[in-house]
Order: sequence, then structure tokens, then C-alpha cells
Amino acid sequence: MAAIVFEQVVKNFGSLQVLKGISGHINDGEVVAIIGSSGCGKSTLLRCFNRLETISGGTLIVNGIDLSQPNLSLNQLRQLRTDVGMVFQQFNLFPHMTVLDNLTLAPRKVLKLSEKESGRLARTFLDKVGLLDKANAYPEQLSGGQKQRVAIARSLCMRPKVMLFDEPTSALDPELVGEVLTVMQQLAEEGMTMAVVTHEMQFAREVAHRVLFLNQGQVEEAGPARDVIDTPQSDRLRAFLSRMSFAKTS
Ligand code: ADP
Ligand code: MG
Repeated sequence: MAAIVFEQVVKNFGSLQVLKGISGHINDGEVVAIIGSSGCGKSTLLRCFNRLETISGGTLIVNGIDLSQPNLSLNQLRQLRTDVGMVFQQFNLFPHMTVLDNLTLAPRKVLKLSEKESGRLARTFLDKVGLLDKANAYPEQLSGGQKQRVAIARSLCMRPKVMLFDEPTSALDPELVGEVLTVMQQLAEEGMTMAVVTHEMQFAREVAHRVLFLNQGQVEEAGPARDVIDTPQSDRLRAFLSRMSFAKTS
């Protein structure tokens, strides 16, 4: 079963065509790394998956919801927002709320869980990312790596079926990258369906099942992660990989 299917997806911003007929899929339980140079459309594709952007053409189905239709019902939109979690480069935690309150907010508001239930859920996932002792801290008291692990735990509290990561380690000091990648690797090993935009090629190679290499709004190369990264076929991918870092997970 495919969690996400996209066929000939086009995205225009005014006269600028950013996605030029992109096709692919992400199966249930699969980790797909999306790589490519800045501006090639990686974030736009990811944002189409959870309807932060609407597509201009083609077909896109996410967890059975057809995002090609212009008007989704409120129920479908709510379902999509619950099913599909997203983690951004800049964490997006609420600075005036404790870690625990950041985690329980959406479960209380959207899933209508009680304070006790949402608190239990939050502690479970804080423990999972190794930050149970930070429950009462404020975001500014945390390192970048800790903030991103909180952001991941916050997403998990909604029990998503799919997780989207948009350069989750790009804003971090190099020594903090590993702790975030380790949490993501653990999620992958537990069978979470994941689409990960990343410049961490070692992570893509070892943790992703497949890699999509985008170039100027098109899929230039795609396939099993190790094949794509170890034996790139196109000159563009070879040139791209030669510029990338191959840092290890911790
Ligand atoms: P990437 O994530 O691969 O760096 P993006 O998907 O962010 O690339 O952007 C692809 C292209 O789309 C860029 O040229 C960018 O300027 C443009 N773009 C992205 N979002 C918008 C927007 N909301 N309005 C206009 N242009 C946009
Ligand atoms: Mg981007």
C-alpha cells in the first residue's frame, strides 16, 4: 500500500513553474529521502503532501485523501493534519510555553484529549526522544538539537501515519546533528512512513529505503538509497553528491 502517490504533479507560483510534472510514491513503512540543490522544489513538494500548498496539476493522494481536488471538506483537512506530521528546519516551538505544553496543545485542541491523557501521551514521546527531564523547561533553555527532538515528539503526539521532515538538521551546530538523526533513525526502524528532505547523505544512504533526486522541479534520478548514492547515473547527481557532507549518525 502506498501512503503517498503523486503523478505528474505540477506546482506554479504565478508564472514560475516550480514542480514540472513529478511522479513517485511512498509506501507504508517506507523512508524516502528527497535530495537536490537549493531551489529545486524539495520543500514545495513536501508542503504539497500536507496541503500547505495546493497543487496546480496532476494527481496527489495522501493516505487515501485525494489532494488533486480543489476543495477538501473540513473533515478531510483535519484528517490530513492529524495523519501527516511535519518537522521544520526552524523547530517552530511556542516560546512562551513549556515543553510539555507545546506537546499537549494539539492533542487537547484537535484530538480533544483531557489534560491527563495528553500529558501521558506527551511524556511517552518526550521519553522516546530522551527529554523527559525537560518537560517543564522553556524552549529557550534548550539546545537546538533538544528543540528539534521536542518538535519531533510534538509531532508524534498526534499519532501521525506519515512524517515529513524538511531539512530537520540544517539549522543545527554540527555536533548536535547526530542526536536528531538518531531519533529519526529510531523512528524509521519502528516502521514510520517518512519523507525526509536532507543534505545528510550518510543518513539518506543508511536509513532511507529510496532516494529521489530532484533537479529544477523534476525527478532526475530515483531508486534504492545505496544505488543512487553509491553509483549515481547522471552527471548532475554526481556533481551534487561531490559537494555534500557525509557525517555519521551518533
Ligand atoms: P528547495 O526546498 O528545494 O530549496 P523550494 O521548494 O523552497 O526549493 O523552492 C523552489 C522554488 O520555488 C524557488 O525558486 C522558490 O523561490 C520558489 N518558491 C517557493 N515558495 C514560493 C512561494 N510561496 N511563492 C513564490 N515562489 C516560491
Ligand atoms: Mg527547502
